Amino acid sequence: NMDLQTGIRWMELFNEDIQQNKDYLTQLDTPIGDSDHGNNMSRGMDQVIQAIEAESPDSLEALLKLVTSTLLSKVGGASGPLYGSAFMGMLKILKGDNTSSWDKVLRGGLDSIQKRGKAEVGDKTMVDVWAPVVKSLENKQLTHVVIEEAVEATKPLKAKKGRASYVGDRSIGHIDPGAYSSALLFQAMLKSEE
Ligand code: ADP
Ligand code: MG
Ligand code: MG
Repeated sequence: NMDLQTGIRWMELFNEDIQQNKDYLTQLDTPIGDSDHGNNMSRGMDQVIQAIEAESPDSLEALLKLVTSTLLSKVGGASGPLYGSAFMGMLKILKGDNTSSWDKVLRGGLDSIQKRGKAEVGDKTMVDVWAPVVKSLENKQLTHVVIEEAVEATKPLKAKKGRASYVGDRSIGHIDPGAYSSALLFQAMLKSEE
């Protein structure tokens, strides 16, 4: 389960993975988007790490609050508000009940993404990674393989939301960039708990 130290470690590992995969995320956003997902996520996570260093949050709640406000204010495009909403949704659950299990907290994150972006499972967005990950966590069956398979499963889908929906059938055959960055988020989460 998450605590402040694990949460900070999670964000550090996510940042490392984002910086390492920045060019790949941009590459994924080229055929079906506007080639900025790598930059958006890289700048956003760089700012998150800087904010953590500057403000030294003293609780998991304070950390989630800081991550939320940083992503909402510093990341453009669709992904900034959506990732910001995710952390805000997680914060909301944690605030109501500090003993909430981590799967409930992440379920709150997913609900928030869907409230904001109106995407359903199968629309070829980050929801296609978040939904199976949360479900697997609830069943205590989340593994690195579950995450990898969820990302791969976005490939044959036709995009129904976001910029990728503008290219219609041509979105088929490509991995969704936001699904890939979300996979990095959950891979980092598993690593932070190892
Ligand atoms: P933009 O599309 O504005 O350039 P990014 O490239 O940073 O923003 O992010 C694109 C990603 O955002 C997509 O790959 C997809 O996963 C996610 N996304 C876009 N629209 C939605 C939505 N309505 N709901 C959930 N996720 C979405
Ligand atoms: Mg883009
Ligand atoms: Mg953009």
